[in-house]
Parts: sequence; structure tokens; C-alpha cells
Amino acid sequence: MKSDRLSAWRQSTQWRMISREAIKRWNAKRETLPKCGARRKRDGEPCQQLAKENGRCHFHGGRTGKGADYHRHLFPNGDASDAEAKLQRKLQQIERDKKAQAKRRAKMSPEQRAAHEHWHRTHQPGPAAARARKRQDRQQAKELRQRIENAEPRPVSDEIKALQAQAAFLEAERDRYRAMVQAEQQQNDEGVFS
Ligand SMILES: [Zn+2]
Repeated sequence: MKSDRLSAWRQSTQWRMISREAIKRWNAKRETLPKCGARRKRDGEPCQQLAKENGRCHFHGGRTGKGADYHRHLFPNGDASDAEAKLQRKLQQIERDKKAQAKRRAKMSPEQRAAHEHWHRTHQPGPAAARARKRQDRQQAKELRQRIENAEPRPVSDEIKALQAQAAFLEAERDRYRAMVQAEQQQNDEGVFS
């Protein structure tokens, strides 16, 4: 019988040898393949799973879409026979993910929340070119902010100093008159009630 012959073959020394060689070859090759560099939860070390094209494994963003699909939900091919079921599963997954994210957000400290929001601002979905442009804009705005913050105060000209002195004098005069008017009013009020 065929199945008997097959199971006998699978228990044979030769089959085991072939299998062992195959797995050895694969393990040798695996060593040389690019690994995922994401920080793993267990100990914070690099993950070391086999990386996909973007340098991340299946679990750490390796399945994230490229180009215009970057960080966008990928929907099933509408022509597939099970497209409807796949779509339903996808929508349920999106709903679950949203709930999980809301839960994570609720637990965050203000600093964590700020970092989280910053990540989402800097990881918007969409094509690489548009994201690069936004990144450049952010960088320029940051540099401008720093330049303004670090800028030395401009030297004040004599003309401006004179104007400032005049303004200070006028303000002092205004305050003096106000005080005088107030004092007069108070006297009048006291006169009414006494
Ligand atoms: Zn990984």
C-alpha cells in the first residue's frame, strides 16, 4: 500500500539524512539573511526574526504596505471568490485594532501620550515623496524655531531709546493723573455719604 510505503520511507535512515542536510543548509543560509532590528518586548534586544523587505519581521511592521500604501489598510482583491468574507474579517480587525489603541492611549502618561502623538504625526500614511516633503517641512520649521530662539537681541538705536524714555514718561504721567482723579472722586464720594 502506498501510504505504508510512504511512512516507511519517512522513518528510513536515508530520509532522515536528507532532512537533516536540508535543515542544516537552511540554518546556514538563515544566519546570513537580514534580521529584524526592532526592539523585542522580552528583553529589549533586537528581535532577530527574519526581516522582510523593509527590514522588519512579520510581527514588527514587515507587513506594512509600501509607497502609497504605507500605513494604510490593505483591502482584499474584490475579484476573489471569498472577497466578502475577507473584507468582513478585515473590517472586524480594524475595529479591534481601534479599540486596542484607545485602551493603550487611555493608559498613557502625558509624556507617553505626547510621544505617541508625535509618532503618529511623523508616520502619516501615504506615498514616500509626500512624507519626505512633510519631513523636510518639519525639519525646516524646527531649524527656524531654533534660530529664532537662539538669535541675539538686536542692538537698540538711540532713537528707539529716546522713544522708549518718552513712552515711559508719558505712562508715568498718565498714572499720576489717574491717581489724582481717583483721589478727587473719593473725596467727593466721602462728601456725599458724610
Ligand atoms: Zn521583529
